[in-house]
Amino acid sequence: MDAHFEKERRTIMISGAGIAGLASALFIARAGYRVEVFEKAKKLDPVGSGLQLTPNAMQVLAELGLDKQIEATANAPVGIEIFNGRSGRKITDIRLGNEITQRYGQPYLVIHRADLQETLLNACLREPDILIRLGSELRDAVSHANGITAIADTNQKTDNYRGIALIGADGVDSITRRECLLGKYSVSTKTFALRALVESQEMPLVLRSNRIKMWLAPDAHAVVYPVRGGHYYSIVIILPDKFKLLLGFEYDIQDEFTGKNIAAGLGKWNTKFTQLLKLNTKWTFWPLKTLPQLKAWTEENIALVGDAAHAMTPHAAQGAAMGLEDAAVLGWAISTTKTLPEAFQLYQNRRIKRTSAISRLSETNRTIYQLPGALAFFRNLRMRIMGGDKILARQDWIYSWKLPKGKPE
Ligand SMILES: Cc1cc2nc3c(=O)[nH]c(=O)nc-3n(C[C@H](O)[C@H](O)[C@H](O)COP(=O)(O)OP(=O)(O)OC[C@H]3O[C@@H](n4cnc5c(N)ncnc54)[C@H](O)[C@@H]3O)c2cc1C
Repeated sequence: MDAHFEKERRTIMISGAGIAGLASALFIARAGYRVEVFEKAKKLDPVGSGLQLTPNAMQVLAELGLDKQIEATANAPVGIEIFNGRSGRKITDIRLGNEITQRYGQPYLVIHRADLQETLLNACLREPDILIRLGSELRDAVSHANGITAIADTNQKTDNYRGIALIGADGVDSITRRECLLGKYSVSTKTFALRALVESQEMPLVLRSNRIKMWLAPDAHAVVYPVRGGHYYSIVIILPDKFKLLLGFEYDIQDEFTGKNIAAGLGKWNTKFTQLLKLNTKWTFWPLKTLPQLKAWTEENIALVGDAAHAMTPHAAQGAAMGLEDAAVLGWAISTTKTLPEAFQLYQNRRIKRTSAISRLSETNRTIYQLPGALAFFRNLRMRIMGGDKILARQDWIYSWKLPKGKPE
């Protein structure tokens, strides 16, 4: 067998070098395969802003031996404070910090998405069996007796690439899902996010703290926390589409806004929050899309991971965590089964129920966070009565997830 053919016989291709794609590359290489990752971006720009990395996500990063590097660029918030967005009054707080590590075996961190992606990318670049093709956009893929041929545009040139399987990690609008698998399209949540990154010295003093702060208001909510060792704060506001006109724009284009536009739209929010909108910072617009729950994530030698398989709303702060869990389970399934289709089936069976439940929880959180009038009053009362510890305990099933080990039963 010539060397070129031998290389193709052990190559698994991945479309997308986001969190799910890069983590999958690392786990698949560890299972003994060569990996080629196609990423349409010419360079991995620091897109997105903050991510909460809950203990289940940290368990995956620890398994990859990357937890110490992540801890060095992330922040470990000591708690979550939840406020009424209108009155500014605190509703409740949840203790994080060391107690979380004792309870779940891993910390609860907050990080800039770019720092997480860079840590994963550098780990891939150190791995001789992983090749990252930047500026290479997957267009289609065809399965055949010898494996799979991917068609990708690289530097305006269309080329064929051969391997034995394809993993679609190409996000909510995945070409792999639409062209090679089920043809399902994402749907609009009729909400959008406005995100900003603010240098900490620009932050109003009262808002500087090593805590996650959440404001709940009718139809909307906002989350603020420190990232990059506390040198910056990540701010996200989630609003329904009807606010678009108030904010002065009509189309779903990714654009930049000033806080002044946003303040006009938020009208009655408390000044403790709206003072953030006076900062001289740029806000970026993100339309939020989800996927209807898919019955299958795999067919023969193609499988989906991350948002490509289960894009959800951000209200449970679990999208990236699910992509990391997917990668770990996929790697485990590949190393414990005889064939790739068998591995992909096992992976899918282990993942669909959990990600569907978390996706539903995220939808429920969205409704609860954004309740209006009297319903908001009762929500706040209930949260106060429950207290932070009980609210946290309700997340146990998510945070205490364990990586599969050994042979499947
Ligand atoms: C406002 C907001 C807040 C969030 N907060 C959290 C949080 O606190 N915690 C958490 O865990 N998650 C959070 N999430 C979710 C999280 O950001 C996503 O779930 C996660 O980043 C998805 O990762 P992914 O790798 O699956 O997809 P993506 O990040 O979308 O990556 C897909 C990659 O594929 C590439 N690509 C696409 N098409 C092609 C193609 N045809 N060929 C080659 N490459 C292609 C893209 O360029 C991209 O690099 C949040 C999301 C939002 C919007």
